[in-house]
Amino acid sequence: MRHVALPEIATFDAWRDAARGLLGADVPPEDVLWSRGEGEGDLFAEPLPPVQGAPLSVPRGFVDLARMVVWHRDPERFARLYALLWALRRTPRLMDDRGDARIARLSGMAKEVSRGKHKMTAFVRFREIDQPGANRRRFAAWFEPSHYILEPTAPFFTKRFGDMDWSIFTPDLSAHFNGGDLRLAPAVPRPEFGEDATEDLWRTYFRNIFNPARVKIKAMQAEMPKKYWHNLPEAELIPEMIATAHARARAMAEAAPSIPPLRAEAITERLSEARKVAPPVADRDRLTVELQNCRRCPLWENATQAVPGEGPDDARLMIVGEQPGDHEDLAGRPFVGPAGQMFDRVAARVGLDRSEAYVTNAVKHFKFAPRGKRRIHQAPNRGEVQQCRWWLDHERRLLKPDLILAMGASAAESLTGDRRDLMRRRGRVETAEDGTPVLLTVHPSYLLRLPVAERPVAEALFEADLQKAVALLAAA
Ligand code: SF4
Repeated sequence: MRHVALPEIATFDAWRDAARGLLGADVPPEDVLWSRGEGEGDLFAEPLPPVQGAPLSVPRGFVDLARMVVWHRDPERFARLYALLWALRRTPRLMDDRGDARIARLSGMAKEVSRGKHKMTAFVRFREIDQPGANRRRFAAWFEPSHYILEPTAPFFTKRFGDMDWSIFTPDLSAHFNGGDLRLAPAVPRPEFGEDATEDLWRTYFRNIFNPARVKIKAMQAEMPKKYWHNLPEAELIPEMIATAHARARAMAEAAPSIPPLRAEAITERLSEARKVAPPVADRDRLTVELQNCRRCPLWENATQAVPGEGPDDARLMIVGEQPGDHEDLAGRPFVGPAGQMFDRVAARVGLDRSEAYVTNAVKHFKFAPRGKRRIHQAPNRGEVQQCRWWLDHERRLLKPDLILAMGASAAESLTGDRRDLMRRRGRVETAEDGTPVLLTVHPSYLLRLPVAERPVAEALFEADLQKAVALLAAA
């Protein structure tokens, strides 16, 4: 039995190195005991084999998964990852198997970590700390994350609060940002910060954004879970604000309408222009986090989550569908439903490896109409496609693909700006705003909706379009 005690800082790198060494020495998963922190160790453990031989090649999807899962609190996470890595050696295409229970479990864990990171960016509350004589203001915060997410989330705070010094303390680790340098350190007992003026600011802000006419307690608790409340200065207002919401909403309804200030229209216009030219997103991690906060169109309100694109950073092919469907909305991943499976089947026939492509949608939130217990897909309208194009443009700039495969009318419109009939243009190569070639084809869900008798021909045409994508990439 080998015992691998991973450090509390730089855990992912340590896990990766250990896994490489173990795999190189052919150590099966059942012979490895993983832990984080010093711990007691295992008196009978053998030493860890050194990393040997050529660098291990694993699918990008696995690396992305591992980078998230290592921060989960499940004590089995390292063992689960190593077991999957072990299985990948024998079945290299295993990551494409959407039905594999191990991958489903790890994907669920990755999603929980991602959600925890998102909550941390929203719920850390800094308090100003007196620092006599210092030339930068200093802040500190205490936060209790659901997972070991301080290390992977700290870079977000360095970018967001780069002009001040700060420390974030958690029960697991602490992060200190001083003069532009980030340092992680072991946990310390919770420090006493005392109250500061920032807390009043939070309470005032919360009071102002709270709309008693739109209070939905369940949605509010889902967005702001109670476990975070005791560290949020504004949370003490919530019970009273909910209790008085009904009366306040009634008073609002009975009050005479107020007249907007004279310059309101011009201000609104300026704000909507500002939204269109919001600052660029510098990397994919940030894009994924920011995407969940998007309110550029109303589709976020009813969807479970925004579904970001996925695939390697150096993908030469970018595949763009229309919008997440029911399955994708729940899973938080693109193309995992029936249309994605149809795509995979046809792509496999022409040798197009989806795991090497970046897959995304023109619109990132699921649009649907409820019918009984079902959610029926609705095509996004032109305004929604236009608003969401902001994200697609960012993805294109970050990825810089050699070729884009636009599947369906919404993707074609978003990428080329042209709304003309897709069926007349399919199979053609047009261009995106920046000149990237865009090959147009139908969406695989179109094939699924056709009567069975018409499918073979339509599928053959779709296959020919994918074949053309493969040829264009080979020639690029
Ligand atoms: Fe934002 Fe796109 Fe979602 Fe609309 S659909 S809220 S633009 S991410």
